[in-house]
Amino acid sequence: MSVKLHAWGRIATADVVALIPRDSASASLPTHAYLPVGNNRSYGDSAMPAGTAILTRDLSRILDFNADSGLLRAEAGVLLSDVIAHVTPRGWFLPVTPGTQFVTLGGALANDVHGKNHHRAGSFGCHVRAFELIRSDGARLLCSPQSNAGLYAATIGGMGLTGLVTWIELALKPTPTPDVIEETIRFPTLGRFFTLSAESDATHEYSVAWIDSSARGAALGRGLFMRANHADAPAAQRQGLRLALPFTPPLSLMNGASIGLFNAAQFALAKEGERRRGYAQFFYPLDGIGGWNKAYGPRGFHQHQSVLPLPAAEQAIAEMLNALHEAGIHSFISVLKIFGRQASPGLLSFPREGATLALDLPNHGEATLRLLSRLDQITLRAGGAVNPYKDSRLPREVFEASFPALAQMQPWLDPLAASQFSRRVGFTHHPNSTILAAE
Ligand SMILES: Cc1cc2nc3c(=O)[nH]c(=O)nc-3n(C[C@H](O)[C@H](O)[C@H](O)COP(=O)(O)OP(=O)(O)OC[C@H]3O[C@@H](n4cnc5c(N)ncnc54)[C@H](O)[C@@H]3O)c2cc1C
Repeated sequence: MSVKLHAWGRIATADVVALIPRDSASASLPTHAYLPVGNNRSYGDSAMPAGTAILTRDLSRILDFNADSGLLRAEAGVLLSDVIAHVTPRGWFLPVTPGTQFVTLGGALANDVHGKNHHRAGSFGCHVRAFELIRSDGARLLCSPQSNAGLYAATIGGMGLTGLVTWIELALKPTPTPDVIEETIRFPTLGRFFTLSAESDATHEYSVAWIDSSARGAALGRGLFMRANHADAPAAQRQGLRLALPFTPPLSLMNGASIGLFNAAQFALAKEGERRRGYAQFFYPLDGIGGWNKAYGPRGFHQHQSVLPLPAAEQAIAEMLNALHEAGIHSFISVLKIFGRQASPGLLSFPREGATLALDLPNHGEATLRLLSRLDQITLRAGGAVNPYKDSRLPREVFEASFPALAQMQPWLDPLAASQFSRRVGFTHHPNSTILAAE
């Protein structure tokens, strides 16, 4: 079967042959180049196969759930939304969740995704107890910190390049309700964001800030700080309003004027104070607008996500926001948050201690590429790193500078696993490196 895949940023696409394993027990890999594919919620070309796509969405069974210990074993194509539906009635929730619930367990593991509680819980990989990995030589390996520990570390955050994960064992977190009590606070300067974050670390499990990218001068970096804890008890079930963009408009709806107006209005109209929020409203606000990525029009958009060591972060973020103004390219959604100290078991994990800034930038061709390159340079000068699963152009030298453990990945890369990203930056298995099928 042939399929056309689109990355979430709608810049990278792939016309490929697809294999669809029906269950984890019978899954196998082809004898030529392949890449596992989850639910295509990655923005860039790291999730676009340079070979056969192994579409994992039919690996959709929850295999075991212990409601006493909160240990879940499920196939890799199960969506986080399915996990939530299965476990929240029994008092459990995801230990870490990204800003969309429509990602698979396999995709969450392979990108070692992070959430609004990184300062407390680390990344997704910190909660993965074990998984099964199929390699292109046919080996089926149980990977955990105790068994095949090298492949365990290389696969968490390994962007699908170590093989196919068929099932995952995940430790969930207990909570009486997934809903939260959220507090919104307007902050006038970047400096105030850092104070609020430091104050909230001990008191709030979740925190995140939205930056008004239209602000400049003395108001540069102003925004809204949201912090939250789970509520004490469940409320009556609410049905959220779900809007959808059914088609890709011929032109981008995200131009400088509309983005500027949206940002300024968000800042001015936001309601400060505490309120109860349904979990979907708090964790997944963008899921409420189906297909919102199509609003950027046929040229799509890039996300630039950096993480910056704290001492250099405030100045580097101000430089980046000024770079946007100078380029005349505005970020529709700009998210700032603090990553905590908890290290991931993943060799290639993106989250590390510091401040992380994510900017959604419409694709205006060369002008946007020049801006992205400038953002890379500001990030690297500050001693930071750029996230490889958020755009389709990250150059090899920025990737190398961002991941000091890159060389340690070499023995674990599957010789046949290949994405457009891995081919583009030359991050592929080297024939002279030892293939360690089992430890
Ligand atoms: C609205 C929105 C908000 C987001 N917010 C966040 C956020 O807060 N934090 C964050 O970290 N990310 C965030 N993301 C990005 C998203 O969470 C990740 O890109 C995630 O990995 C996508 O998972 P997926 O199931 O769609 O997998 P895909 O995008 O299809 O694939 C992701 C990677 O996983 C690999 N893979 C998939 N399945 C398997 C498998 N079974 N075995 C081996 N490898 C596999 C693929 O090869 C690929 O490299 C967001 C994305 C969106 C659209």
